[in-house]
Amino acid sequence: MEKLRNYIDGQLIAPKASKYIDNYEPATGKVYSLIPDSDETDIELAVQAAERAFPKWAGLSGEARGKIMQKVADGIEARMQEFAEAEAKDNGKPVSLASHVDIPRAVSNFSFFATAIRHFANESHYMEGVGFNYTTRKPIGIVGCISPWNLPLYLFSWKIAPALAAGNCVVAKPSEITPYTAYLLSEVCIEAGMPAGVLNIVHGLGTSAGDAIVKHKKIKAISFTGGTKTGEYIARTAAPMFKKLSLELGGKNPNIIFADCDFDDMLKTTIRSSFANQGQICLCGSRIFIERPIYEKFKEAFVAKISKTNVSFPQDPNAQMGAVVSKPHMEKVLSYVELAKEEGGTILTGGKQIHLPAPHDQGYYLEPTIIEGLAYDCRTNQEEIFGPVVTITPFDTEEEVLMMANSTSYGLSATVWTQHLSRAHRVADRLDAGLVWINDWLVRDLRTAFGGVKASGVGREGGWEALRFFTEPKNIFVKNG
Ligand code: NDP
Repeated sequence: MEKLRNYIDGQLIAPKASKYIDNYEPATGKVYSLIPDSDETDIELAVQAAERAFPKWAGLSGEARGKIMQKVADGIEARMQEFAEAEAKDNGKPVSLASHVDIPRAVSNFSFFATAIRHFANESHYMEGVGFNYTTRKPIGIVGCISPWNLPLYLFSWKIAPALAAGNCVVAKPSEITPYTAYLLSEVCIEAGMPAGVLNIVHGLGTSAGDAIVKHKKIKAISFTGGTKTGEYIARTAAPMFKKLSLELGGKNPNIIFADCDFDDMLKTTIRSSFANQGQICLCGSRIFIERPIYEKFKEAFVAKISKTNVSFPQDPNAQMGAVVSKPHMEKVLSYVELAKEEGGTILTGGKQIHLPAPHDQGYYLEPTIIEGLAYDCRTNQEEIFGPVVTITPFDTEEEVLMMANSTSYGLSATVWTQHLSRAHRVADRLDAGLVWINDWLVRDLRTAFGGVKASGVGREGGWEALRFFTEPKNIFVKNG
């Protein structure tokens, strides 16, 4: 069976303790490779390599670093199909989704920050008659990047690319559930001539390898995307060490549909925003609020379309949805369907596991599920499910829908559907969210700030925000002569 290796100091090496974890294929439920079960010894090696590499990497011009990063982007692009197939096998998502969304976006992440760093300017503030200030921004040193399983290479590269562009050396850990494309990325980095130690990819569990990154004294900043509970733990552990923290956490996003929306456009996009990637995107709109005059029309059309979804194995070119990422996750999602029933919800479609024919009979397939009749403040409507499950709820007034939309502890993103210009702006302005889409969903411009409020996180990624996070400002004052 294939054994993945860590990428440390420019080499692909086995974990020091020679321990491995099984890597499951969600489409079949079978183990198909082994992942290093790295611990603090492996993280220590990665930190030492990063420490050696840092002076030279930080001393290169942004342009020179960008050239190497562009080679990484080109290297992924050249192996697009292989990366897409690997991502689908590891995660359970359709190959078509990985080849249209995940992998192209990983390419863009590297090429965007490879050039963004050339435009990143220092600030200067002139004080009339006194002097002036200029603020330099230097790399932090060694930084840690920890990412989740839902958009494996997409989110991994979204952190690594700005960190490297800003001149830092990185110790990164992908999710142990979806490590494969991070492994392929190490091969690409070697081919691209990434200097040894600049990027180190260490595989393993969050509680051992991840924890060792968070606790290492020489790692000065942590960029983390994952669950709110893990984020809480990381904040508690890293804050007393005065580490810089960027935390992108969970969501329970509202999708607000007013009666005057473009119905067909809304329906098409709402299908995606509910169930893309089996509902395992932090930005999916899992609570759908519909203005009462179109509630029945929406319900009928939405249920009719969703009940015909083709849930199939990732390699099926006609698959609209694939498998969810793991057995425990599938069980968690199903437990929420049971909870919804206990809370008085009606399952309009879905709610069950799907058993495909062999060899996919042990895979983790779920029916896309629509639930109605739940109170806005019940657990099903307040807790993150992170699977193919949405609730639909009617509303009568703007005030009421804003109250329901803002009622959760989360505040990542929101979607608003209306043709009424001033209402669109008014509602967007009052939503507790870091990102709002009006009449669309998941349109991303990599220059914009990305992240959430409340329990959805601290800090922002994207564009200058990411480059600011991965640099330390120093203000220097000069008196007028
Ligand atoms: P987890 O929080 O379980 O894990 C995220 C990463 O952290 C994994 O690499 C994990 O390793 C690691 N980890 C776990 N425990 C620790 C620890 N004690 N110290 C250091 N690292 C640790 O999240 P999931 O992987 O389950 O991802 C799903 C979550 O991610 C959802 O809540 C989702 O909303 C959120 N998310 C947020 C996004 C955003 O931008 N706001 C985007 C995408 C997802 P391991 O896999 O080995 O456990």
